[in-house]
Parts: sequence; C-alpha cells; structure tokens
Amino acid sequence: MSYNILETSIEYLKGVGPKRAELLKKELNIFTFGDLLTYFPFRYIDKSKIYKVREITSDMSYVQLRGEITNIQLIGKSRAKRLSAYLKDETGVIELVWFKGIKWIKDKFKPGEEYIVFGKPTIFNRKFNIPHPEIELISEQHDSLSKSFQAFYSSTEKLKSRGLGSKGISKLIGNLVLKINGEIPENLTENIIKNLKLISREQALNNIHFPENQYILQKAKARLKFEELFFIQLRLLKKKYIRIQKIKGHIFSVVGDYFNCFFKNNLPFELTNAQKKVIKEIRKDIGSGKQMNRLLQGDVGSGKTLVALMSILIAIDNNYQACIMAPTEILANQHFETISKMLKGMDISVELLTGSTKTSKRKIINENLLNGNLQILIGTHALIEETVKFKNLGLVIIDEQHRFGVAQRAKLWKKNIIPPHILVMTATPIPRTLAMTLYGDLDFSIIDELPPGRKPVKTYHLYDSKRLKVFGFIKKKIEEGRQIYVVYPLIEESEKLDLKYLMDGYESIIREFPLPEYAVSIVHGKMKSADKDFEMQRFIRGETQIMVSTTVIEVGVDIPNASVMIIENAERFGLSQLHQLRGRVGRGADQSHCILMTDYKITNDGKKRLETMVRTSDGFEIADVDLKLRGPGDIQGTQQSGILDLKIADLIKDEKILKYSRNLAIEILKNDPNLEHKENFPLAKQLKSFEKNKVNWGLIS
Ligand code: ADP
Ligand code: MG
Repeated sequence: MSYNILETSIEYLKGVGPKRAELLKKELNIFTFGDLLTYFPFRYIDKSKIYKVREITSDMSYVQLRGEITNIQLIGKSRAKRLSAYLKDETGVIELVWFKGIKWIKDKFKPGEEYIVFGKPTIFNRKFNIPHPEIELISEQHDSLSKSFQAFYSSTEKLKSRGLGSKGISKLIGNLVLKINGEIPENLTENIIKNLKLISREQALNNIHFPENQYILQKAKARLKFEELFFIQLRLLKKKYIRIQKIKGHIFSVVGDYFNCFFKNNLPFELTNAQKKVIKEIRKDIGSGKQMNRLLQGDVGSGKTLVALMSILIAIDNNYQACIMAPTEILANQHFETISKMLKGMDISVELLTGSTKTSKRKIINENLLNGNLQILIGTHALIEETVKFKNLGLVIIDEQHRFGVAQRAKLWKKNIIPPHILVMTATPIPRTLAMTLYGDLDFSIIDELPPGRKPVKTYHLYDSKRLKVFGFIKKKIEEGRQIYVVYPLIEESEKLDLKYLMDGYESIIREFPLPEYAVSIVHGKMKSADKDFEMQRFIRGETQIMVSTTVIEVGVDIPNASVMIIENAERFGLSQLHQLRGRVGRGADQSHCILMTDYKITNDGKKRLETMVRTSDGFEIADVDLKLRGPGDIQGTQQSGILDLKIADLIKDEKILKYSRNLAIEILKNDPNLEHKENFPLAKQLKSFEKNKVNWGLIS
C-alpha cells in the first residue's frame, strides 16, 4: 500500500469542507485525517449515570440531569446580560445560565420537551446553578455513536462558533472512524504487539474516541502511549546510531604530559568519586573514534569546571584545541580566571574572547587560533562568529546548556570537517524522563556528589513583615566578614515595574547600610556590560558587602565568601531558578543561608515551590517537583523542542512505559540499525511518515 489514507487532507472529510478545514488547521493544527484521528479526548464521562437535582453536591466536577426546561428568560442589559432557564425533575429545580452565545442557545429550546443537561454545578447566592451547560434533547440523543462513555475534546472559541465544540469534533471523528475503518495501517511489529499484549492500532484508535467500557479504554490508552513514546525513542536513537556510523570523531588516544602534570602538581584537591567516574566516561568516548555528544549534569557546586578542564587537557595532549562557551560575559570571565589560575606554572596558552574584547586583541587571538599557537579559548557566543576559525578544534565544552539554542551548537560543528567532541554541561538537573526524551540522542553523565565538607545551605521562608529581622541578620553576617546577595525578579512582561522594585529595594538597603561603613553593589540587565562587570568585580574582590541584582548572577558565579542569599518576591521565581540562585552560596567553608522573602499572598503552586526549597537541596528531587508542577512544556529549554507536545503519554505518569520503550528501541536498533529487516518494515514506514509530515519533533540535535 503506497497511499496512506491518514494523510488525506482534512477538508475531504464529511462535515468539514474548506472553511472548517481552514479553521481546524489554524486553531488545532489539524491538517489531515491522521491529525484528527490522533486528536485525543482530554477526559471521558460516564454518561450512563443520570443524577437527580437533589443529589447535587458541591464537590461534583460535573453532573448529568434529566428533565424539563422552563422559565427561559433574558436578564440584565448589554454587558451584564445573561440567559437564565430552569431545569426541573421530580426532586427539584436548578438554574442554568449562559453569558455567551445567548441567542443561539435561546433559539434552540423547545418548550415542554425533556432534555439531558450536563455541566459543572457551582454555588451562586448560596444556591446551585450550572453555568454554560451542554443540553441535548432526549429525542435526539440516540445517535449511533453516543455510547455510554463520552469523550471530551478541547476546542476554541472560534471553533465553537462554527459548531465545532467538543461535540462537533466528536461527530467529525465519528465520521472519520466510519470512513477509514479497516484501512488504518498497523505501525508496530507483530512481535511487539504479541509480547506486550497490545491491541491493534485500529482498535486502539477507535476505542480512544468511542470506548465501550473502561477496560477497552485502558487498553487503548496503553497502546497509544506506548506507541507515542516508543517512536520518539526509536527516532532519536536511530539518528544517534546513524551519526555514530557516519561521523567519525577525533581519536584522543593518549593521556599525556599536560594531563599528568596537572594531576600531579596543580590539582588543588582530591577528585570526588563522581568526578573520577565522569572523567572516565569522557575518556572512553574521546578515545573511541566516535564523536562524543555528552550531557554532563551536576548540581551547582559539584565541580563541573574541573571535569571540563581535565577533558581539555586530554585534548591538548593530543595536539587539539579546545574551547569553552559560557552564556554570559561574567561567566566567561570567571571561567577564564579560574582556569588560568589552575593552570599556573604550566605552559598552556589560554585566551578570553567576548563581546567586549578589543579589535586589536581579537586579531591576535584569531591569528593564534589559526596557526595553532592558542590551545584553549574561553568565551561567550562570540566564539561562534564567522571570523573565529580554529586550526584543529577537538573539543567543545558548552556550559549551562539551556541558555544556548540548538542552532548555536550546530554552528560550532561546522567549524571542522570532523566535528569536535561536544560536552554540554548543565547545572539544572533534568529529570531522567525528560532528559531521555529531550536529549535522547545524547549520552549522559551525572555528578551526583558534592565535594566533601560542604554544608547544605539553610533555607527559610519569611514574610515581608520580618524584614527588620533580616536586616539585622545581614548586619551580623557582614560583621563576621561575609557577603550577601539580594536578588529581585525581573521578567520582561513587567520589566518597568520590576526595575522600580529593584531600585526601591536598592535604596532601602543603602539607607539601612550606608557608606562609609558599608558598600553596596547593584547589577541588572539594563546596565552597560562594562558597568556590570565593574560592579561584579568590586563584589568579587570584597570591596562591597552586598550585591543587589536581578537574576543576572543566576548561573555559575563563584564567590565562596558570599554566604547569604536573599531572594525577594521568591514566589515569582520558578523552582529551578530558585535552586540555581541558592547554589550561588554554600561554596565556602561557612554555613550558608538562603532566605526566601514573600508577601502573604501566594498561589498554591508558589507555596509548594517554597516548601520544596526549604525541605531539600537535592537538585534532582527539585527538578522532579518542578516537572510535576509545571508539566514538561514549561521546563527551561524544552520549548524550543516541540518534542514534548505529547498527545497522550505523560512524562511523569508514564515513566515506566518510557523506560521500557527506550530499552526496546535500543534492542531493535542493535540488531537492525537501519530498520531493514522485513519484520521491522512497519517501524521504518512509520518513521518515514513522521518525517514526511514533519511531526513536531524538532531540531533536537
Ligand atoms: P559547578 O559544577 O557548579 O560548575 P564548580 O566547578 O564551579 O561547580 O565548582 C564549585 C567549587 O568547588 C569550586 O570552588 C571548585 O574549586 C570546588 N571543587 C571542585 N571540585 C572539588 C573537589 N573535588 N574537592 C573540593 N572542592 C572542589
Ligand atoms: Mg559552573
């Protein structure tokens, strides 16, 4: 079969036509039969149950009633206008109200007939009513497709105004299912279906929309969830295997003088076991002849920089150049300084390249890159400008992954015929499930151990009313010689106001901590980069005791003497951001503190975030809570991917299926990397069809 009926344009479906087709495309991204068929319901309701008015309670999320509709009347004028009606059964009456689409609904009523009414009961003026219920004439209710389980689809205002609310969509899907029955191709292998006891694809797709009972609905869900996650994994892993087959990597075969000399003379401390383990994993990769694409996750302060540096030393031991790319100038500076310091006494050339590097200096750097005299280049995205050309770039380290787009990673690749090894470092722990899906084609290393002697940061949540106490605490800490961060939120949407809060906060702090006894720095995104740097340097040198800032200091900054982090309006920060910010302290030997300041008004999610911060400092646990609170679509860095537009699977609830499907994909590809065996044809075909239809699984790598 060469033509796949699921690829038919949606306008050819009975009940659609060009106008509705246009809307379906625009509003729901439904272009084809297949798109509609996989537009899954978001919930189901057991429509066999009909309640009595008297049985209604306030905790019902929906109720289905049956009775006569009376007293239909318009109440109020213009904007306050509403349509009110009463439903009456043997046990009582309840008001139904509509605020929108009034005329349309009003014209629909047929007095004296019995209706089924369905909606969410709410309490208004101490009585129940049902706003915007669905209503249906009993006499019209028995169309062939309304089974006892009714599926609900999300829709949009525009679609609703064209008769494509949940019910309209359901009807279209009904037409579709009738039309394509018997023609839905199976896309899994016989073996998989048999071993996992799955129902067929056709059965699953029918029953996800029109389930006859709970049991078959569960079977349908299980099959479709597996299918969704399995094909994501299969696709990512296939890409990875092809890359390994096709793309050679530089072979760093020796561990030489640079590495050994550093290890013997310069290493300031014992490596942690986790660091050793990760360095071993990296060494194995870069010695293997395949190109390394590794994601290194390690909590803030876990010592990723050292791992990066030791990998770099292996690269230059093998006569290759290496670079580190950091997301901000401050961080690039800091890496440059740390690394220069650590390499003291060794004959290794290191340079810094950022937006503020002078043209004359740039010229020298470029020259030395090309002739190979420069071994390590550290910088911001200035590194990926066209003019920056390496003689033989062997290793690229990307720090703080989520700040960089995918396209930028690709650019670095292009700098060599044989691509350099790539190590992406992130301090934002990503839940395993998310990592597998989002970065499924990368290898992972995890540093799951902090250097010894670190005391966990003590974290408190305080209300604004305790501000004087906080000032007192700051004074005490400054007397002990410590430094303090005070961080304010700044988001684009409310930038002006946020900046005002920041400046107000800054002023109240300099009033409380006046010169000459105290000195306060301020850094925010609206300042010139040179000014930011100047203030940052003052704080680093210990000339100022308090740093008031926005989240520009969020990533990477390492000032061991700073031991107090105060986060203002903490409820407005996301969990991973709070965790990052807290990671700025706790880097020295002293006990550190993190104070989360808030108003009394906090959302439930906000409370959960604060509680989590107070309870734990385990980055992976925090990432898990974050994922649960926000859903994968909102986690930093995932938006760019689109891969997480999962239609039915859930990365949190379906973790087991995900792991299983990944292992299965690995097993299949091990035996048949190009999916050429006959039994795997359905899989190959499905992947091809995804490619053709540009299924959203964007540009992950
Ligand atoms: P991050 O993983 O957040 O980038 P860094 O690399 O900045 O962490 O390391 C945090 C701090 O821990 C640095 O001051 C570094 O010198 C120190 N450090 C790194 N590894 C060790 C170790 N094995 N033992 C003791 N201190 C270490
Ligand atoms: Mg770092």
